[in-house]
Amino acid sequence: MDVAKPTCWHCEYSLVGFDVGQRCPECGNAITDLGPAPETCPEAFAAAICAGITVLMLLLTALSLRFTPLLIGEVFALLAVVFAMLSTLETEGVRFSRLSRSLGRISFWIGSLTLAPLIALILSGIVIVTLHELRLI
Ligand SMILES: [Zn+2]
Repeated sequence: MDVAKPTCWHCEYSLVGFDVGQRCPECGNAITDLGPAPETCPEAFAAAICAGITVLMLLLTALSLRFTPLLIGEVFALLAVVFAMLSTLETEGVRFSRLSRSLGRISFWIGSLTLAPLIALILSGIVIVTLHELRLI
């Protein structure tokens, strides 16, 4: 596969023979750049794997009603968020494929939504302990 082949930034259609200012024949978006084909982002795929394990662990939690898979799921949710955030740090001149960007975005949301209740629980725990220490409750 020729990596240097110019492709559409929106739909990845091959733009060989086209120029900046013309429109992509596939999606109709204006061609603003004839850079090389988008690259696969390894962090996005790592995020997707972690998000997948998170979902699996949440299912296991629901089925077994045990705490261990939930804890493992929370760890992988954190990893998914970290990898997804790393995958958005695109280096200058490098752009990632649509699949990479989608995987990163989906993984970020799966990770965040899994972590949110845990963070809320920890924060409310800290508030309750603090209020108790101050003898307000
Ligand atoms: Zn296009």
